[in-house]
Amino acid sequence: MAAEEYEAVIGLEVHTHLLTNSKLFCGCSSAFGAGPNENVCPVCMGMPGVLPVLNRHAVELAIRAGLAAHCEIAHESIFARKSYFYPDLPKGYQISQYELPLCKGGYIDLPGISDADGPRRVRLVRIHMEEDAGKNIHEADGSLVDFNRSSVPLVEIVSEPDIRSAAEASAYLRELRGILRSIDASDGKMEEGGLRCDVNVSVRPKGATEYGTKTEIKNLNSFRFVEKAIEYEVARQIDTLDAGGRILQETHLWDPVREETRPMRSKEFANDYRYFPEPDLPPLRVTGEWIEEIKSTMPELPAEKRARFIREIGLTEYEATVLTEDREVGNYFETMVAAGLRNQKTAANWVMTEVLRVVNESGRPIGEAAPAAAESGALLKLVEQATLSLNAAKTAFAAMCKSGKGAAATVSELGLVQVSDEGAIAGACDRVLAAEPDKVAEYRAGRDKLFGFFVGQVMKAMGGKGNPKVVNEILKAKLAG
Ligand code: ADP
Ligand code: MG
Ligand code: ZN
Repeated sequence: MAAEEYEAVIGLEVHTHLLTNSKLFCGCSSAFGAGPNENVCPVCMGMPGVLPVLNRHAVELAIRAGLAAHCEIAHESIFARKSYFYPDLPKGYQISQYELPLCKGGYIDLPGISDADGPRRVRLVRIHMEEDAGKNIHEADGSLVDFNRSSVPLVEIVSEPDIRSAAEASAYLRELRGILRSIDASDGKMEEGGLRCDVNVSVRPKGATEYGTKTEIKNLNSFRFVEKAIEYEVARQIDTLDAGGRILQETHLWDPVREETRPMRSKEFANDYRYFPEPDLPPLRVTGEWIEEIKSTMPELPAEKRARFIREIGLTEYEATVLTEDREVGNYFETMVAAGLRNQKTAANWVMTEVLRVVNESGRPIGEAAPAAAESGALLKLVEQATLSLNAAKTAFAAMCKSGKGAAATVSELGLVQVSDEGAIAGACDRVLAAEPDKVAEYRAGRDKLFGFFVGQVMKAMGGKGNPKVVNEILKAKLAG
């Protein structure tokens, strides 16, 4: 069977750290980046006899995540012990929600991707809370364990196998990350392990209704790895099936250097973990009132913001997606517009080209790479007032990125102010026309195309600073007369 006759079936399990100050069951700091084993205590080190106390803020953030993803929030959910041995898990079990998770169902629509029924929708199975494990560090002379991460609160967001390609998986992750950031539940930093993804992949003949056997690729921590691992694994499974082989239900690891997946172990099953309800934690009860209270504090979500930008400003879906994927970028745009800009589409373009270019080129966040949004807005305002040409604004912007100075100061320092004074422009026009009597005669005899030539000459005579609109008007009048 040719590769195009297969279809990939993909489900993602995303783990994300919740942005709490303290850990899930103790008062230790959950901040990233402290020295080894600085943020630890007997509870998060899993000493015998200690008692966990649930962090209310973590629950609230998990509920926010559930509401943002259209889940049903359970009024009662249960923490369980998931038993396994690992050096970074001294208790011998991880406390995780299993049979009764906090959030059930829900969905995420993929921006910019639609099918016959409308936007491409990826349904969620559940969102549950759990604690993270510590971190093993392997060095030449031995292995070390850092427990700072041990018991940092996580939610696991499990999708239905509704994803059909690497590109859709990536779109899903981006949207999910944007949502989690917009509600302050997660910083979405994949490079710091704050967001990690297990990818479940199977293939089947197109049109089949049954799923094929899946493999699971663990712990991918970048968008690129997710896409590459899926592409590799889909191709591998198709090749295996075509060669008459069978797919084994296995857990794989992605090798970013060799760019291939490798089997790590045969798949574990739920009963391997001997799940049972955590006796030291009562059932987690969430009242309807609490849910309503949290609902009332929910901010505008990326999908809502996108719809608003399309409806109110007339942006395309693509433009709206670019401007809402990262909350900081959306805020930048809105702050710029709030500087009193009439043409919001120009402002949107400005952010997508000039601003995102310096962000991408510098690899730094927008707040550091670009001038303050209000100053970008002030700069475009000068363009709207015809004080500045768009090109001059670009020159000023580049200078502002380097100097950190404001729009007005930069424009005057660089002498970029556009000349709109009619007397000055008329003088320049007269000089140009006097120097080109032949061309003036040709134009008057009907060679309309020469108009652009005259505009160019006048602009040149004015050092590029003439207001093009005024130049056009005055030239037209003079050439007619
Ligand atoms: P497991 O018990 O192996 O962890 P689950 O049913 O809990 O399996 O599903 C885990 C993840 O695997 C989910 O994201 C789900 O969508 C996905 N998944 C389930 N079956 C398949 C399949 N046949 N192909 C691809 N992904 C799948
Ligand atoms: Mg699983
Ligand atoms: Zn602790």
